[in-house]
Amino acid sequence: MSCWSCAGPTPTDLTCATCGALAERLPPNAFDLFALPEGVTVDRAALDKAYFAAARVLHADRFSTKTLREQTLALAHTATLNDAYATLKDDVRRAQYLLTLRGQPPLGSNDTAPAHLLAESFEFHETLAGAGAGQLAHLADGLAARKAACLQGLAADLAAARLAQARERVMELKFLQTCAAELAQRRSGDAHAHH
Ligand SMILES: [Zn+2]
Repeated sequence: MSCWSCAGPTPTDLTCATCGALAERLPPNAFDLFALPEGVTVDRAALDKAYFAAARVLHADRFSTKTLREQTLALAHTATLNDAYATLKDDVRRAQYLLTLRGQPPLGSNDTAPAHLLAESFEFHETLAGAGAGQLAHLADGLAARKAACLQGLAADLAAARLAQARERVMELKFLQTCAAELAQRRSGDAHAHH
């Protein structure tokens, strides 16, 4: 499909290299959209840079005097871009996205967390409830290490197409993210209490 505006070669970027018009279609893969390698981790600085550069190209002010077609494309592309950015910058959403790229349904109510995670969840909340500041820091370090290991395991499972295991890793990642959020909340609560 050639450029809708100048009938030149199909744009491979946000805009046509020949006439500068917005591309009609964006790459369907969120990683391709930001020219990033597909993987369980993402170069956050590169992602931010690519996102803000694209957002500038699509900024509504630049299209106020353009055709309705281009204004409509700019709006639609902005929505696509925002969604892709939100997906790639979050570890759990990015991991789930990698599953869907392999034809897997997203995690849902049919997924039951492995028993060891339920036990761990119980244990975590018990520890969190009774932990002092030093223990909280220790817990945070432990969660960060677990998360790094989980991401590494997920990468290996995806590379070997072990999709059932990959799915469990994503559940574990989600669990770790929830724990980290609760821990962060507890630590900020404690910090405020000292003022
Ligand atoms: Zn063109």
